[in-house]
Parts: sequence; C-alpha cells; structure tokens
Amino acid sequence: MEISLKAYGKINLGLDVVRRREDGYHEVKMIMQTVDLWDELTFCDVTTDEIVITSDSSELPDVKDNIIYKACRMMKDIYGIDKGVHVTVDKHIPVAAGMAGGSADAAAALKAMNMLFGLNLSDEQLMEHGVKLGADVPYCIMQGTALSEGIGEILTPLPPMPDCLIVIAKPAIGVSTKWVYQNLKVDLLEEHPDIDGMADALKTGDLKGITDRMANVLETVTIPANPVIDSVKKLIAENDSMGVLMSGSGPTVFGIYDNRDKELAQRVVDMLREKDEIQAAYAVSPYNIRRGM
Ligand code: ATP
Repeated sequence: MEISLKAYGKINLGLDVVRRREDGYHEVKMIMQTVDLWDELTFCDVTTDEIVITSDSSELPDVKDNIIYKACRMMKDIYGIDKGVHVTVDKHIPVAAGMAGGSADAAAALKAMNMLFGLNLSDEQLMEHGVKLGADVPYCIMQGTALSEGIGEILTPLPPMPDCLIVIAKPAIGVSTKWVYQNLKVDLLEEHPDIDGMADALKTGDLKGITDRMANVLETVTIPANPVIDSVKKLIAENDSMGVLMSGSGPTVFGIYDNRDKELAQRVVDMLREKDEIQAAYAVSPYNIRRGM
C-alpha cells in the first residue's frame, strides 16, 4: 500500500515560557497556527524489515537521526511490526526554522504507520506516542489553531484564525531550539505575552486583537545572537503589516496582512527574495483543517 500525506508547518502567534522545570523542560503557553506550507511525504510498506528515507533536501540529517525514522522505528518496536517502510520526502518547510517541520513530518509518519499497518489508533493515542519524539509533535497531529501548554502536550483547540495573508521569511541561518531554551532566563523576563487576550480575540474573530498581542519571549535570546532577524522584522513592519514576529525559536519571521492587501504582501515577498540574507520567502494563508479548508 502507498500513502501520501501533507505535513503542514506552523507559526506561533504568541509564545510565552511560564517556568523552567526541575528536569530542564520548559512549561510554555503558546498559540499555534498551522499554515498552508507543507512537506509531501509518501509511505510504502515493504516486506523487508527496513526503514528507508529518500529526500530531495540536502538539509536533512542522516537517516537514523531523521525524526521520520525515529517515528517509524518507535511504532515498529511498540507494535511488533516486522515489515518495513520506504518514505519519500518532498521538503518545503524550511529546516531548523521555528516552523516545526521535523515535528510535522513525525506526525505524518505516525499517522501513516497507523494506516499502513492497520493499528486503529485514535489521534489521542498517536499524540501520546508523539510527545516522546518532540514537544510539538502532538500539536502537529492535531493541527489548526490551538492553545498549547505543559511542555506542548496539553492542547486546547481554539476557533480558527480569521482569514489573512501571512508573509513568511526564513533568514539563511539555522537556529537550534535546544540552544535557545538553554539560554532563556525565564526569571528575568520583563514582559509576558497576553496569551489569554489573544485566545479571546480568536473567539471573536478579531484579527487586529490578535496582531496587537503577537509576542514571543524567545526573541530575547535568538535576536541578540542573530541581528538579521531584527532587520527582517523591520522591513516587514515598515511595509504596513498588521503585526510581525519571530516564530518559535526562530529564525523565521512572519508578518500578518489583511486579505485586501494581497498585492502589498506579494511585493514584500518579492523584496525579501532579493536579499542575500533571506533563504526563502512566501505568502501563505492560515490552514484550518477543522474548518475544512
Ligand atoms: P520547532 O519549531 O519544533 O522547534 P524547527 O522548525 O526549529 O522545529 P526542524 O525543522 O524541525 O526545526 O529541525 C530541527 C532539527 O531536527 C534540525 O536540526 C534537523 O537536522 C533535525 N531533523 C530531523 N529530522 C528532520 C526532518 N524530517 N525535517 C526537518 N528537520 C529534521
């Protein structure tokens, strides 16, 4: 059997870190939004006991370090599957970018293993397995607009983000999520994003109420070490975006535009693509699976 799945990337409309736990994990409070930028993955079951991953991207790690491999391996071990799987990855989500590309691929791998080998697991069961691979994996199984708490595994669906355009710019640098969290001084944070206010704005479909509250405490770590992020933010802000922010641990920056400003958003993307320090730029929309988009 062959299964093709789209693995969608995300942005964080708001990202707060509440505290650092004794075990080193950070408790977060984030508003997540899936965007229509995706990797295309094809999974094929094979009779031989092997996991083979082929990709068009040179940025992915060796097969055993690939989170897709880890997801397939884990399911094979837990459910005693002696068959194997061949995976092809068409990578579009920027790597090490703060868009959860790896977590989205892992979520797709868990879903594909469930289908290929008739495991009949619910999304909730897949999410319980997913958190062992990475804190964002349960959210990538759920998708859409959600409040994410705990280390990322406590998820509350929220009403979909109102339609808009999201300009995404990935500077030509990678950022290690681990390094950013290790260097975050939670106790010294002077301001915390108004995540509850943003959730209320989502409930009333108030795009301006959302963009006015966009904030990410990880900017305090990533931006001083990577000033290019600040210049990208400034370029987008100066071009009349409703709000601009770094996503996740960075370096990807996104700016929100009203749907009526389509031409402006496209001009900003063209401007960004001309810059050497920008690896990729796109104008995308929120992807809200529960709304059936
Ligand atoms: P997050 O937003 O969840 O912090 P990210 O967007 O910052 O994630 P990823 O693109 O998921 O980062 O990559 C993080 C690391 O995971 C990279 O250094 C990369 O080498 C590794 N990795 C392993 N498997 C994959 C994969 N399938 N796709 C992308 N990166 C992968």
